[in-house]
Order: sequence, then C-alpha cells, then structure tokens
Amino acid sequence: MMGSSSVLSAVVKRLEGKVALITGGASGIGESTVRLFCRHGAKVVIADVQDDLGHSVCNDIGSKAASFVHCDVTNESHIRKAVDTTVAKYGKLDIMFNNAGIVGTPNPNILDNDKGEFEQVLAVNITGPFLGTKHAARVMIPARRGSIISTASVCSLVGGVASHAYTCSKHAVVGLTKNAAVELGKFGVRVNCVSPYLVVTPLTKKFFNLDENGSPGIYSNLKGRMLWPEDVAEAVLYLGSDDSLYVSGHNLVVDGGFTIVNPAFG
Ligand code: NAD
Repeated sequence: MMGSSSVLSAVVKRLEGKVALITGGASGIGESTVRLFCRHGAKVVIADVQDDLGHSVCNDIGSKAASFVHCDVTNESHIRKAVDTTVAKYGKLDIMFNNAGIVGTPNPNILDNDKGEFEQVLAVNITGPFLGTKHAARVMIPARRGSIISTASVCSLVGGVASHAYTCSKHAVVGLTKNAAVELGKFGVRVNCVSPYLVVTPLTKKFFNLDENGSPGIYSNLKGRMLWPEDVAEAVLYLGSDDSLYVSGHNLVVDGGFTIVNPAFG
C-alpha cells in the first residue's frame, strides 16, 4: 500500500531539470524519495553504503535518471566525492537530501547507553548532515541557488521516544538546519528538515512488530492510517521543489498529530 497522493502528484512534473543527491537512498524513506523525484523529472544520485541495494534501485529506475555512488556519510572525502560526482555527471546540484540515518539500540535507559554507540549514532545522524550541508553549500553558493533538506524525526521535538543518542542527534539536525538557513539564505540557498513519526519500513516492521494497520502502542491521530515512506517523500518533494521558494529554516513535521496531542485526550 502507498500514499494515494503519490499517484496524483506525478501528473505534474515538479522537478523537471533538477538534479538531486540523496544519502541513504538505497532503502526506506530515501528510496521512496529517489523514486518520487525521478517520476517528477529529476536526475538523482543515490549515496549509500549498501551498494547492491543502491544499484538495484538505479537499475529499476533506469540509468539515465538515477545513478549510485558508494558513500559513507561520516567520511568527508566520500561526501566530497558524492557531490563532485553529481556535478560532473549532471552539471549541477539543485537538491541535497541528507537522509541517511541509524537508530542504534532503541533503549531509552541512560545507564545502559554505550558511549561508542552514542558516538556512532551522532556520527551518522548529525555529522553526516553537517558534511552533506557543507559540501552542497560549496557548489550551491557559487550557483546562487539550491535546496538542502535533512531528515530529522519527531525525536527532534520530544524526548522519551528513542535512545538518548538518537534524540540528541535529531535535535541537532534542527539546529544545523536553522544555522545553515541563516547563513546560506543570502546566497539563495534554502535549508529545511523533515520530521517523520514512525514510518512503516522493513526496519520498523521488525523493531516494533508493525503491520500495515499499526500495532498496539503505536499512536495514530489519523485512525487506521499509518505513515508510509511515500508520505515523507511528498514532504521532501515540496521542500525540494520551487513550490516552497519562500520556505527556509523550517522543520516540516509529518507525524499525523503525534507531537501536538495530549495523550490524556488522544
Ligand atoms: P532505512 O534503514 O530504511 O534507510 C536508511 C539508509 O541509510 C539505508 O539505505 C542505509 O544503508 C543508509 N545508511 C546508513 N548509514 C549510512 C552511512 N554511514 N552512510 C551512508 N548511508 C548510510 O531507514 P529509514 O527509516 O528510511 O531512515 C531514513 C531516515 O529517516 C533516517 O535519518 C532516520 O533516522 C529517519 N527517520 C526514520 C523514521 C522511521 O520510522 N523509519 C522516523 C523518523 C525519522
């Protein structure tokens, strides 16, 4: 099952002529965004550590529209190469989507939080977007245009949902977004982030025993409706397209009302 809005929005191509680089594009939210962007006329480079999956997504879409570069987002030379490869192949970079992320152990107990894992989650979830923003800005500043988007989470707004590392990393994504938006606005570069609630992906199905109708303990304000990767991709499409030309420094929350409801009344 997928969001019906994806079918509707493909009628008008909102990214014709645009070039995008998407980290973590081999799976989940990233993969859905790659597919949606290509349906909307963009050329897309997937940057991921899962080479087989990344190549298979590109083969499925077609090599004219999508290509793959091996990239560990915690490694600055990999990010530099991913940006340079995109510009060399397609002539420019219009949209950078810093989406790669890891959860680590979903354990909110601070006494059991391991320092090494804490640092690893921060390395992928915030050093990655920092490096992606930095190297996208390197080519977008001279071009005097661009849209940089990072994936945060509802954990950028509330505590107690995930581990300390994950919550810290996603709050930091919002800080990076605001700082970069202030600095890069004068160059015509917009910087935003998206904050999804629990999305149905292979990973979350496993962790939370999710099925398509949800699972006990999973909140949905929109009863009977789970959040799908395609729903998040539509929000990223909005931020990447010229439909959002006056939107910068924004955290677009895609959570069905999770962060605004008082559970006593939900
Ligand atoms: P996913 O595991 O399906 O996809 C993540 C992708 O990132 C994978 O392809 C993985 O190979 C890649 N990746 C991991 N580490 C990397 C690294 N060091 N360098 C390059 N690529 C790397 O997960 P997803 O659910 O699609 O998550 C995407 C983003 O959405 C993450 O930032 C995650 O924190 C965020 N998010 C997910 C949910 C959810 O419920 N799934 C909710 C809120 C936010």
